[in-house]
Amino acid sequence: MITNYSLSKTIGMGSFSKVKLGTHKILNKQVAIKIINKQAASKKNSAIMDNIRHEIEILKCLNHQNVLKLIEIFDDTQFSYIITEYVPGGELFDYIYKNKKLNEDVARNIFSQILTGVDYCHKIGIIHRDLKPENILLDKNRNVTIIDFGLSSFGKENNFYFTKTCGSPLYSSPELIKGKKYDGKKNDIWSMGVILFLMVCGYFPFNCRSIGNLKKKIQKGVQIPKYISSELSNLIQRMLKIDPKKRITIQEIKEHTWFHKNIN
Ligand code: ATP
Repeated sequence: MITNYSLSKTIGMGSFSKVKLGTHKILNKQVAIKIINKQAASKKNSAIMDNIRHEIEILKCLNHQNVLKLIEIFDDTQFSYIITEYVPGGELFDYIYKNKKLNEDVARNIFSQILTGVDYCHKIGIIHRDLKPENILLDKNRNVTIIDFGLSSFGKENNFYFTKTCGSPLYSSPELIKGKKYDGKKNDIWSMGVILFLMVCGYFPFNCRSIGNLKKKIQKGVQIPKYISSELSNLIQRMLKIDPKKRITIQEIKEHTWFHKNIN
């Protein structure tokens, strides 16, 4: 029951939810409690509650050190409560912002954990589809937890999707932005390429207010600054290949020379 938990500060706001810090009254363990106002969400758009139920089904399947752990779920007439482990360090986005940009060793350490978590998801047939630094949490030792499976999907046999509205365009692959049928795994790899670029450069590889200009910018290809090592530059370019068929796979990323430089 939700009354087993005491609720304290708000630690995050989603579009239709509030995330609160909670403590189990008997176990004295801190948790994150995502509280969804079901009535408000359904009023706004009937599909939202389907998405939330879908997110819960996906969370139930996940068990990995770099992926958010579900603890329990409660429902009352007005609210749904999703209780998960609490990750105390904050979002990767804020960490990059605070540090302006990260050195390659720190970026490798964080990136390798993101890759491990995403690889696990893909192997069990789950595609995240909304990978961005706001959905990557870090604890004080820079351990990574991937959150927000609200747009995720169970991979289809061939992993192909056809959805225009998935995640932020800044992290979406060109094939998704164009509204083409796309390979979900390849789209997640593109998003990880954008995150890697953002970590080491401190700005977005493609950043435009309008989708039209964003498409044009992406077509010109990524410009990697000179201060990035040649190995990392090669890896980012291969992750941000416009043609998804030519884009690097997770297995190839794991074998890439940059990935094998001394990991912290
Ligand atoms: P959106 O509408 O943006 O997709 P959402 O409703 O799906 O958001 P989440 O992305 O799951 O909500 O959570 C919103 C924010 O709350 C996160 O970006 C993060 O800052 C914080 N948060 C969520 N879960 C946790 C957690 N387990 N530990 C710590 N902070 C968390």
